[in-house]
Amino acid sequence: MTGRFAPTPSGRMHIGNIYAMLGAWLSARAQGQRMLLRIEDIDTPRVLPDADRLMMDDLVWLGLDWDGEPVYQSSPDRQARYVEALDCLGRAGVLYPCFCSRADLRAASAPNEGDGFMVYPGTCRRLINEHPDEVQARLDRGDRHSLRIVMPGEWAEPPKVAADAFVGFADKVFGPQLFNLPRMVGDSVIRRADGLFAYQLVVVVDDLDMGVDDIVRGRDLLRSTALQMWIRRCLLDAGFVPECARQSSQDGSSGQNRETPRETLRGTSCETSQESSSGSNNPTHPSYAHLPLIDNAAGRRLAKRERSLDMGALRA
Ligand code: GLU
Repeated sequence: MTGRFAPTPSGRMHIGNIYAMLGAWLSARAQGQRMLLRIEDIDTPRVLPDADRLMMDDLVWLGLDWDGEPVYQSSPDRQARYVEALDCLGRAGVLYPCFCSRADLRAASAPNEGDGFMVYPGTCRRLINEHPDEVQARLDRGDRHSLRIVMPGEWAEPPKVAADAFVGFADKVFGPQLFNLPRMVGDSVIRRADGLFAYQLVVVVDDLDMGVDDIVRGRDLLRSTALQMWIRRCLLDAGFVPECARQSSQDGSSGQNRETPRETLRGTSCETSQESSSGSNNPTHPSYAHLPLIDNAAGRRLAKRERSLDMGALRA
């Protein structure tokens, strides 16, 4: 099995990150497994110069080690993989352009349950179903748009991906989880209107390529896990071959059938641990543990700006 740290270099690490990383590290190292480091610098406007270097220095100071070189999402290699993944999803017929502005979204989206997740009501999905010519005209005019992945059952024409509205997994901390994708997650942005790939896509591509199958992170990402399992399923069904599976089969260690990703995954480091135990309809998902979030004295989630609890202050 393989675990990972995946910090966003948007500031100094604080006690919340350290807690998530310690959980991931303990899970990996207690089982004698690999621990990889991925710098999640895809959201370039949020990235602070040198934050990656400080984070790595803090990890070393804390004694939380990792294997191999860190992977940067901003690297040309990773960017090329995100393009391939997007093409794959496009070919599978599960993407559509969304022209909604932030204000449109605020006005139309269902209220979220405090985890920052907004369930998109499908405005532009209906537009493309009912007025495809108008959508084409807007695309030809170069109107600013994001790309969304459609949830199962929400497409007029059935997509080329077997669709079940529910996704489930056995969380190692919070127990059995079941999400109705259209109702609780909704069509989600995969490429943003500013052209950047969305976190939700890149994290799936990276975890697949790096062979990560032990994911430990904060509880705020519980609902994202359902979405990421759907994206993962669409990618694999559309023929996306994870790099780790390719490498394993080149090494001769697995995978007689390189045309069929699910087959290729079996017997490699991409193989999952939960296939039969969770009862999920996705046979290739990793194991998940979501950790409770650390609250401040007022009972609210610790914010990064609470400088007294960041590594700069803790190491001073
Ligand atoms: N980069 C995310 C963060 O710093 C973590 C994402 C993940 O673990 O999937 O919160």
